[in-house]
Amino acid sequence: MTTQSTPTHPQNVGSENVANSDALERCPIMPTYGPPSVQFMKGEGSYLYDHTGKRYVDWLAGIAVTSLGHSHPAIAEAISEQANTLLHVSNLFATEHQVPIAMMLDSMIGDGEPAGGQVFYANSGAEANEAALKLARRYGGHGRHVVVTALESFHGRTLSTLAATGQPSKWEAFQPLPEGFRHVPWADLDELERVLDETVAAVFLEPVQGEGGVNPATIEYFRGVRKLCDERDILFMVDEVQAGLGRTGKWFGFQHFLEGDDRPDVITMAKALGNGMPIGACWAKADAAAAFSPGDHATTFGGQPMATSAARATLETMLAIDAPTMAAEKTELFKTALLAIDGVDSIRGLGLLMAAELVGVDARKVAARCLQEGLVLNGVTDTALRMTPAITIDASVIEEGAQILAGVIAAVREEG
Ligand SMILES: *Cc1c(COP(=O)(O)O)cnc(C)c1O
Repeated sequence: MTTQSTPTHPQNVGSENVANSDALERCPIMPTYGPPSVQFMKGEGSYLYDHTGKRYVDWLAGIAVTSLGHSHPAIAEAISEQANTLLHVSNLFATEHQVPIAMMLDSMIGDGEPAGGQVFYANSGAEANEAALKLARRYGGHGRHVVVTALESFHGRTLSTLAATGQPSKWEAFQPLPEGFRHVPWADLDELERVLDETVAAVFLEPVQGEGGVNPATIEYFRGVRKLCDERDILFMVDEVQAGLGRTGKWFGFQHFLEGDDRPDVITMAKALGNGMPIGACWAKADAAAAFSPGDHATTFGGQPMATSAARATLETMLAIDAPTMAAEKTELFKTALLAIDGVDSIRGLGLLMAAELVGVDARKVAARCLQEGLVLNGVTDTALRMTPAITIDASVIEEGAQILAGVIAAVREEG
C-alpha cells in the first residue's frame, strides 16, 4: 500500500489558498458546494468573523436560520445545559421538550389560539417535507397519491423533495425521480384547477418562493387554493421552511393570505426553528395527522433532546420579543436604506425574506464583491440580491451594511 499525502481541507489552508487548485484537489470534502471563499470562526448578533479576525455584517443569517442572531445567550445556555443533562434516548421514549414546543407551534399557527394540530419532528427542511409527502400519500390512499407543486419552487434535495421542487434543471442528472408529482405555473389558479383530478392527494406551496427568486403568494392565490382543495378533500400543504417563524412579520407566511380557521392542513418548517441547531417539524391538522399510524414514519434523531432544547429556547425567546412585530419594524428600516441606494430599483418579498432588484449590474457579482468588502448576502437571480437577516439586527448594522452595498454597486457599475 502506498502512503498518501495528508489531504488538505480548505478550512485548514486559509481563505487565500482556497482557490488554489492543488489544495482543492486534495480536499476531503465532496464538491457539492463549490469552493468555499471564506472560513467563518465566530458569530455574534449580526456580525461574523473569519479566520483572520476580519468582521462581516451578516444580512443572510445562514439563509433564514439564525433569526435571533449568532451566539444568542438563551440558546447557548439551553444547549450547554442539555449537553450536560441528556443527549439522546430514541423516540421509543418521551423527552422533555417535544410537547412544549409542539404546543407553542400550534398556538403560533393558530395566531395565539390552539390550532388543534399535531407535530412530527425531523432534522431538516427536506425531512420535514418528506414527512408531509408521506402523510399526503397515507391520507389520499392508493391511487390518490399525486402531489401538485409550483414551478420555480424549492422543497429540498432528497429524491422526493427534489421531485417536488419545480426546477427541471435540477432533476436531469438524477432521473428517474420518484413519480407522483405534477408542477403548475406559480400563482395561476386556472392551471392548478386543471390538474386537480381524482389522483391528487395534496397541493404543496411555499408562501414566498425563496430559492425561486423571492416571489410572494397573494391573498387571492392562497384563498383560491384553499377553496379548490376544500371542494375536493385535497390537502393544502405549505412549506414554511424558509418563511416561517416570525421572519415575514407574522408567525407564518401563510398568515398574510389566510385568516382564522382558513389555514393549511399541513405546515412544514425547519431553518429558524433551532436558531442554527438542525431541527425540522411537520405540523398537521389532527384529522390529517390521523392518517399516520405507529410504524408509518420515524427518524432516529428527529426531536432529540439537544435539538429540541435549542428549539424551545428559540421559540420562547421569539415569543418574549414578539419576533413578528420586530421583523416588520426592521423590514421598514431595510426598505428605506435599500431604496436610497443608487442602482436598487425595487424591493420585493414578505418582511425579512426580501430581494432587491438591481439595475445595470450583475447581482451575483455584487454579492461576491460584498463578501470581500465585509457584507454577507446572496445573489438569488442574475439581477436580484436576497436578504434574510436576523430579526434582531440593529438599525446601525442595517445602515452599516447599506453603506457597504452602495459602495460595491457603485464600484461594479463603474467597471461596467
Ligand atoms: C431550505 C429549504 C428547504 C430544504 O431544507 P433543508 O434543511 O436544506 O433540507 C425546503 N424548503 C424550502 C422552502 C427551503 O427554503
